[in-house]
Amino acid sequence: NRQVVLAKRPKGLPQEDSFAWREEAIPTPSEGEVVVRTVYLSVDPYMRGRMNDTKSYVPPFALDEVLQGGVVGRVVASRHNAFEEGDMVLGMLGWQDYSRVNGKHLRKLDPSLAPPSTALGVLGMPGLTAYCGLLKIGEPKAGETVVVSGAAGAVGMLVGQIAKLKGCRVVGIAGSDEKNEYLKNVCGFDETINYKTESSMRDALRRVCKDGVDVYFDNVGGSISDDVLLLINKGARIILCGRIAEYNLEKPDLGPRPQTLLLIRSALMKGFIVNDYAHCHDEALRELATWYREGQLKNRETIVQGLEHAVDAFLGLFRGDNIGKQLVQVSEI
Ligand code: NDP
Repeated sequence: NRQVVLAKRPKGLPQEDSFAWREEAIPTPSEGEVVVRTVYLSVDPYMRGRMNDTKSYVPPFALDEVLQGGVVGRVVASRHNAFEEGDMVLGMLGWQDYSRVNGKHLRKLDPSLAPPSTALGVLGMPGLTAYCGLLKIGEPKAGETVVVSGAAGAVGMLVGQIAKLKGCRVVGIAGSDEKNEYLKNVCGFDETINYKTESSMRDALRRVCKDGVDVYFDNVGGSISDDVLLLINKGARIILCGRIAEYNLEKPDLGPRPQTLLLIRSALMKGFIVNDYAHCHDEALRELATWYREGQLKNRETIVQGLEHAVDAFLGLFRGDNIGKQLVQVSEI
């Protein structure tokens, strides 16, 4: 049973030597427990925060302990009455081939409803984040302009598509032409900006947001967000979902301070954690599943094969390697 542990706390961008490998025997379940073979492992930007020894909304990863993440897997042994061998399940499990876990921490998946990997994407945490953040905080109205950064990632791609379903004009910001073409041609975004090649983000934003910005779904922070905020309309809603441009900074990036604009435009800026909206998750999953089944929501995935590439897949999030949800396939379904 191969395992990835946190070897040392990274400074700045994590390097391969922040991680180490261990091997142990495949576990067997005790009473109430289940052993799960990892099929898909989710790598997520928030894991970078858990590598620091700082207080946050989830505790830091411990040194020399197996890293944790969202896993879709298959039950290979069960001593819990709700699960039997062969079941597909979802849980927060280890970066490892096999996990031993109390059955109460698992959710059974029905593969006849949707491909199991969707439980880590459109019908999982990224889907809930996009839905709750956009609709419960952003409250977009038909005809409004919605801007989303990190637009070609797991969350951003869904935010833009949901905003389109609500009749909005959607502008996506992402880091490659390939990503932007996908957003326009497949996801129906109205406009896109490649922040890596655009010489002036301010000019580019002004060009595509002629009526200003009513809703900004912020996945990245940093200077991209400073530039978007210059264009907010009266009563704009700004959803602080993520700050990936800042996760690897060793010193805080102060940047311009947009509070005056929030004040004079009577705008709302609200941060959130997807679990704050647990009361909306059933509604969100129902609607996301309906849109997905009807083909109105695309669930694009980038899948790296092999647990041995999990660290690189995680680091790839900061290089922008992924289009849609980044997964690692650890074993065959
Ligand atoms: P993504 O699938 O969007 O992957 C990360 C993407 O971020 C990359 O593909 C890359 O795309 C982009 N990126 C990387 N570095 C930078 C940078 N310096 N500046 C701008 N863009 C960058 O990840 P998720 O969809 O899982 O998460 C998106 C954001 O939402 C993250 O910040 C994450 O932490 C946050 N989040 C928050 C949740 C909450 O409850 N609040 C829950 C889930 C996620 P590109 O090629 O465009 O650069």
